[in-house]
Order: sequence, then C-alpha cells, then structure tokens
Amino acid sequence: MKTDCISIGFDCQFKVELKDCLLMTLVGAFRSLVKQLLSEFMRNSLLGFAEHYMSLGVKPFSCDRCSNDSEFIWKTRHGKETKILAIYYWAILHQLQVQCKSCNHKFSLTRKLLGIEPMKRIPPETYKRLGLIGSLTSYRVAEKLLCMFGWTIDKMTIWKSVQKTAKEIDFSLDPNELAHGEADGTGVAIKGIKKRGKEIRFFVQLKKSGGIRVAGVDIGNYNSDWKGLFKGSIKAMKQFKSFLLVTDGDAKIFKSIKDNVNVLFQRCLWHIPHQLKYTLWKDKVKRKSDDWKKILAEVMEISAIRTLVDDDKIIDGMVESKKERLEAVIALCIDKGYKHSAEYLKNAEHDMFTAISNRLNGKTTSRVERLIRTVNTRTNVGKWSTSGVLNVTKIRLAYYYNGFDA
Ligand SMILES: [Zn+2]
Repeated sequence: MKTDCISIGFDCQFKVELKDCLLMTLVGAFRSLVKQLLSEFMRNSLLGFAEHYMSLGVKPFSCDRCSNDSEFIWKTRHGKETKILAIYYWAILHQLQVQCKSCNHKFSLTRKLLGIEPMKRIPPETYKRLGLIGSLTSYRVAEKLLCMFGWTIDKMTIWKSVQKTAKEIDFSLDPNELAHGEADGTGVAIKGIKKRGKEIRFFVQLKKSGGIRVAGVDIGNYNSDWKGLFKGSIKAMKQFKSFLLVTDGDAKIFKSIKDNVNVLFQRCLWHIPHQLKYTLWKDKVKRKSDDWKKILAEVMEISAIRTLVDDDKIIDGMVESKKERLEAVIALCIDKGYKHSAEYLKNAEHDMFTAISNRLNGKTTSRVERLIRTVNTRTNVGKWSTSGVLNVTKIRLAYYYNGFDA
C-alpha cells in the first residue's frame, strides 16, 4: 500500500495521580501513559489512512468476496474493540468497518491496513521476536527478562510463539555452497521416557567461507532411520555432481536414490575411537587393560588422517596400510571373542577412507560437535516434548548458523 505521506493530528491528554516523584514511581506511571499512547496513536493513524483511502477512486484494498476495489461505504469508524500485540504492548483498536457497494459484503479494514492476517492477535513481527527469545534462553528466564523491561508477557505466550516461529523455518542444502556435509545426533530428555530419551539429528553443510550452515534438523528414537533429516535436501543434492557426506548415522535414504545423486559416504573418523570405547565395554574388556590400550591406540592411529599429503602413490599406500592394520585389529577382536567391537569395525571399514581415496580434502573430524554444544546449552534445561524440543532447536540453529533474525 504505497501512498503519499499523510499527517496525523494527535493531541495527548494525560492525567495521573502521583504520591511522589521517585524514579520508579515516574517510570511506572510513564509505562501506563505509553500503553494508552500506543493504542491511541494507532487508532488515529489507522483512521487517518482509512479516510484518505476511502476518498480515492481506486482503493489500495479490495473486497474479500468480489474483489471490487473502488466502491465502498463506511459502516462504522468505531466498531468493536480488537486487541493486537503490537510488539511493545497490547494495542486496543476499533474495527473500521466498510461495506462493498457491489456485493454488500461488510468487512473490517483494521487488520488489512496494518498488513496483518485476519483474526490474528499476535502478528509475525511480534511472535518471531518472542520465538527467538524463547529459543535463546529458558522460558522462565525469557519471561523474567521481558517483564523486567516492562513487557508483560507470560511463559505460555512465549512458548506458543516458539512453536509458531519454528513452523515457518525450513532447512535444506544450498546448491551454491560446498558439496560437503556432516550429519550427527545428540540425546535429549523427553517427558515420560526414562534414561536417554530421543535423539535430535543435525545435517550441516560446509560453506565456501569456511563456516557451516544447517541443512536439516530432525528428532527420532535411537536406532530409527534418518530419512526425515535428509528429506528436505534431496532435490538440492541432485544438483551436485557428487556430495561427500560424513556421518555415522543411517543415510540409507541416499543409497536408495540411485538416479542423479552421487553421495560419497565417509564415516566420521572422530567418532570411531569414541564408539569403540563403548563396544569394548560391551565386550567386557577391562578399561586400561593391555588389550583395551592396544586396540584403542591402533584404531586411533588408523583414524588419524594426514591432510597435507598430495602424492597419489603415497595416499594409496597410506590407505592400503591403514586397511591392513584395521584388518589385523578386527582379527584380534574376533580371536579374543570381542564380538561387538569386531562387528563395529567391520561395519565401519567400508566407509572409513572414502574422502582420502577420492582425493577429497574432507575434514573427517566432526564440526557438528560445537553445534551440538550450542543446542545442548538450551535443551539441557528440563524435560521436553518431542515437538517442543525440535522447535526450540530449529529457531536456535537458524539464528546461530543460517542468518535468521527477528
Ligand atoms: Zn464485494
């Protein structure tokens, strides 16, 4: 709705009884003045614009029913009251009602003129701000901070704003960034589930500038499939000639799409010694025993890749030697009856040297680790519902990594 400037006449009359003139008394009284002022200012401005538009031949709004945009008559300039959370305060406005002369449909101009959706009391400009605050700190702290600076907003409104804001955030790969990503997950406490709860998963894409951006977030049970995490990125993935994916998660979804997608899988080498500690424990190998030390030390060395080697023959030799050593460790595990560890290593073997063998200088150490810490500082507060924790995480990551702001 573009138009020339309109001047709004505005007289303010404000009377207040004050017991004293201490700082907080004055600030408190000013707050109630501002509250009234905001409503009144908005009412005057809306009416000023409405009168101006009504005097034009072609209006900048149209009838919802017949799309007529020229012939209207006023029904009332002081209709029913309606409340809108106008960032700072609830503004109490009047419905400005007009009638369409071609179909007789009556409708309110108030929200049309404000540029907000019909019926909505909390516009996006407001709930996005609340949603961001709720994702940055706990709901209790968010409420406290807002109240300290004069915003009377309850926790429930902040919670609702987080859910709404998150719904509008989608993640996917950016075809203009690098053909290299990582996927990983972390546990989160869920109401009604003992112990580990569920797993939030992250798919990040490396950027040309050196940082990372988020290309997917999802939540699921441990050991469930990771389809949801990659779903939004399949289309963009097809635009890459090939894509290096570093993950320990279930990426079968890509293995199942044969056409047009060439995904090179690389095990996250950073994870392998960590995960091995767990399987050794399951195999009842005593911590710090000779076998424990030998197996871990060997696997740590195998997982450490020198990135600056650029001679093809040396690279091939290196990979060959690492594979042989890994075979020896697996043989040792089988020999000693360490079933879980042997199986784990055999499983990983195939995708451990993809990046180096393809001469892709893919860092095989995890970059998602720091991102996970960013998530954990928020999600470690209390227990969550599945969608609640996913939503808070989405906004938080969009803000820290993808340029979302409110
Ligand atoms: Zn009409």
